[in-house]
Amino acid sequence: MKVIVIGSSHGGFEAVQELLQDYPNAEIQWYEKGDFISFLSCGMQLYLEGLVKDVNSVRYATKEGMEKKGVHVFVKQEITEINPSQHQVTVRNLNDDSTRTESYDKLIISTGAIPSKLPVAGNDLENIYFMRGRDWAMKLKRATVEPNIRNVVVIGSGYIGIEAAEAFAKAGKNVTVIDILPRILGTYLDSEFTDVLAPELEKHNVNLALGQSVQKFEGENGTVKQVITDKGSFDADLVIEAAGVKPNTQWLENTLELNPDHTIKTDAYQRTSAEDIFAVGDATLVTFAPTDQPAKIALATNSRRQGRFAVKNLEKETIPTPPVSGSSALSVFKYHFASTGIKDATAGSYGIKTESVYVEDTWRPAFVPEDHNAKVQFKLTYSPEDGRILGAQIMSTADVTANINTISLAIEKHVTVDELAYTDFFFQPGFDRPWNIMNVAAQKAQLKMK
Ligand code: FAD
Repeated sequence: MKVIVIGSSHGGFEAVQELLQDYPNAEIQWYEKGDFISFLSCGMQLYLEGLVKDVNSVRYATKEGMEKKGVHVFVKQEITEINPSQHQVTVRNLNDDSTRTESYDKLIISTGAIPSKLPVAGNDLENIYFMRGRDWAMKLKRATVEPNIRNVVVIGSGYIGIEAAEAFAKAGKNVTVIDILPRILGTYLDSEFTDVLAPELEKHNVNLALGQSVQKFEGENGTVKQVITDKGSFDADLVIEAAGVKPNTQWLENTLELNPDHTIKTDAYQRTSAEDIFAVGDATLVTFAPTDQPAKIALATNSRRQGRFAVKNLEKETIPTPPVSGSSALSVFKYHFASTGIKDATAGSYGIKTESVYVEDTWRPAFVPEDHNAKVQFKLTYSPEDGRILGAQIMSTADVTANINTISLAIEKHVTVDELAYTDFFFQPGFDRPWNIMNVAAQKAQLKMK
């Protein structure tokens, strides 16, 4: 069997790994249009901040390493067309601009997403950057140490925008974050948490310009100098656009069935509308566990999971890809937070009734001295109808984020508030309290539901 995998990031890598395990005799061709395989944008902040020194280490695999395992790796070779009826793809070799066709028995697409460019005047000026992929990582790294870049404007206050803002603030730049939403991280956290994080960012020289939309970029000698919004103007030697991504599927529009948001339509087995073609990663949707409905949640975890399940279902419908809760975590200076599932801020968009309880507690028992203790904020979201757990958020200066993985499991397994209230969690004063904060919140929810 000959399998072609397109894209060498999370989804593509996982598919190749699983193929090596499940189909050791298969001929695997792995294509990447960039000049580097398997770069991981997730590692960009650590690289920009200098914790990771070598940009080339931010990857899962090397060409040589994968070739030793028997994979045929093609770098700087782009798949430009698929012919499903012939089971063939067109490959453009970007090294010499030649084209050829390759046949496949099975094809796995993980072509991901590309950053959206704001459709405003001046968006073609120099020094407007994106934060995705190795080329931008290297350009951004140079900008962190470029003395002429003093004012950095980040557009978008989601995870990527906040990672960029923190990296450039740590590099000593004046950073402004602009977002159309009135709160940072507006789709990840409710206000109990962002009300703490916003001043934390401001304390570190990050100016927040929220509730405003970018109207245009103005420049001098072809380089950006100002970002103009509906509420003000901001000096900018560098702009980082982090206001969303779009699926990299334009080239597939006449080949595969796409969803209205241009992601590739797949079933629960990662099969597309064409026989023997599978799709995974940011170019597709996932099933959101709290609602059991398709949702766009662009995460490496989802891409890897889908890559694995595409291979499990390669020859026959074996096992559907499990739904996901959309769990993620991030640090913002001294705070560490994680969230999963539905928040109050996003509940309206799902058309289901939700309730939430918010609790604050100490990380360890109150008798543990302050310098070995910390405040923990936790919010639990559930269905007021049947008590089913639907989401949670946690934040502290201590790293208590792993609790959210428990809630993710609770969501996926349809655990209720009554069950979570008395779930057995360990206690030892060096780690925790006799009632874990998840017990405490669920007990509070029980009272509210009475
Ligand atoms: P992509 O990563 O988009 O990769 C697609 C690859 O396919 C690219 O290398 C591209 O060059 C190649 N390609 C595209 N078209 C073709 C073609 N026609 N022929 C050949 N090759 C092609 N997620 C987390 O879970 N945790 C995190 O901490 C996290 N941090 C992030 C930080 C940043 C700054 C960014 C940008 C993203 C982060 N993510 C994180 C999200 C995560 O990186 C994505 O969800 C993930 O990369 C998606 O993987 P993918 O395989 O779908 O596609």
